[in-house]
Amino acid sequence: MIAAARASAAPSLASRTGRDYLSYTQVTTYQRCPLKWQFEYLDKRSHERVGASLAFGSAVHAALETHFRALLAGCSTPSPDELLVAFQQAWQAEVARPVQYAQGETVQSLHELAGRLLATFAASPHAIPDGEILGVEEELRRQVIPGLPDVLARIDLIVRTDDALVLRDFKTARSRWSAANQAESASQLLLYREVARPLAEEFGDLPIRLEFVVLTKTKRPAVDTHSVEFDPHALGRTQRVLARVWQAMQAGHVYPNPSAMNCATCPFPQACRAWRG
Ligand code: SF4
Repeated sequence: MIAAARASAAPSLASRTGRDYLSYTQVTTYQRCPLKWQFEYLDKRSHERVGASLAFGSAVHAALETHFRALLAGCSTPSPDELLVAFQQAWQAEVARPVQYAQGETVQSLHELAGRLLATFAASPHAIPDGEILGVEEELRRQVIPGLPDVLARIDLIVRTDDALVLRDFKTARSRWSAANQAESASQLLLYREVARPLAEEFGDLPIRLEFVVLTKTKRPAVDTHSVEFDPHALGRTQRVLARVWQAMQAGHVYPNPSAMNCATCPFPQACRAWRG
């Protein structure tokens, strides 16, 4: 475990959410639908269902975590079959709730896809990172905006190379990422960079490199890297957005924000219909 980025004092919403920090996921959940945020973070409702795509992504993530934890521990590199077992175990936990499949999807088709995806990953240069693995699913937290709670960053993989501290986040996607996909997600890694700065200082102020690694769920899966360049203007905008979202949360601005994209896989459809404000 990395001993960096200590906790700071937490403002009031903590008592209602039970969290004395903000996460990127919590903020984007609020931005997409404040009512969903309330169900998830304030009411802590059980999920009524889970989208197969979300369960698949979480299970792939668990398999990658198994892979990198083995490397971190100095064990032999897991085989694609071992990764698939890790996937299947995580999948079973994910689908304890009713699963919502997209057209043409079945358990069988998703498990076959996972096999191809994990084999492609295992054969890619990403399977054996160039450098020393410092952390896997490492949680760092730091106050990056005065007056706001700490931001908690759960970083999939932290690697130290000769010339950089690399923060890597793994995504699964239906198709290869476009420049727009990357731009939309960049704020996540820019925030993580701020949280991880004390860690970079511990290693002689190493430059921080930010990377998304995207595993595409296409018939022939691909593993692509998307580097995010540090942009102070983009970071400033992200911080201002965070401050506004925090204000809105604090003020109790909660309302449904229905859309095909938001609602199709929302885990709370019945609670939403029953909501009376
Ligand atoms: S169903 Fe749609 S509007 Fe309702 S809480 Fe979920 S995302 Fe929000």
